[in-house]
Amino acid sequence: MDGSLRVADKYHDVKQRIEQTAVQCGRDPDDIQLLVVTKGHRPGLVREVISAGAGMLGENYVQEALEKMEFIEESGFVEWHMIGHIQSRKAKDVIEHFDFVHSLDRVKIAKRLSRYAVERDTRIPCLLECNVTGEESKYGWSLWVKNSWESVFEKFSEIFELEGIDIQGLMTMPPYHPDPEHSRPVFRKLVELQEVLSQKFPDQNFKHLSMGMSDDYMIAIEEGATFLRIGTAIMGPRI
Ligand SMILES: *Cc1c(COP(=O)(O)O)cnc(C)c1O
Repeated sequence: MDGSLRVADKYHDVKQRIEQTAVQCGRDPDDIQLLVVTKGHRPGLVREVISAGAGMLGENYVQEALEKMEFIEESGFVEWHMIGHIQSRKAKDVIEHFDFVHSLDRVKIAKRLSRYAVERDTRIPCLLECNVTGEESKYGWSLWVKNSWESVFEKFSEIFELEGIDIQGLMTMPPYHPDPEHSRPVFRKLVELQEVLSQKFPDQNFKHLSMGMSDDYMIAIEEGATFLRIGTAIMGPRI
């Protein structure tokens, strides 16, 4: 009982802070979507955050997510977003069970996702995961030196051609640092990339920026995030 109150309270707290921060920096709070990251949490706790009002959930691992969904009756009424690296053999599961991909990081997986999406007569909305720092994170397009941008953009062009993929923007994950201000230049780099891509590919849509987690989401709002991916601040420490 206590636990359930805490998750709902934290959910509403975070929602309120998002709204306040948005208003303070002159943004419309409705342009900022909250994704509650439920990886590492049991189905009961996930159901509690859904009851509190969460409509979008983020998971990193396909297998863990599928097992969890079975125990969540409301599963079909919320959006599931894939935010982790996708193994090729899981592409079909992603198309069948997820609504949105934040972590598109290679052409091969894009082709697979597209093929299964087309088979189901749908398109999967995706974000391109960008590694703009070259540190720590293993995944994402290598975009930390501008010299490499053109060759990566060529690969993006291949993805834009895929019938089953609907690119809607960019995602990034800064390396962990105890001072959240260290995320700000990373977020700014993603915005710069968004501007460059929008000019280079005017027919494509890069409106979404998925950036900002428990420690740095207020900075992400100031820098233009449209999706926040928040786990610990709402769900507590992962098991
Ligand atoms: C785990 C995770 C999050 C959430 O992190 P918290 O610090 O718990 O808010 C966000 N994005 C990705 C890609 C993650 O893997």
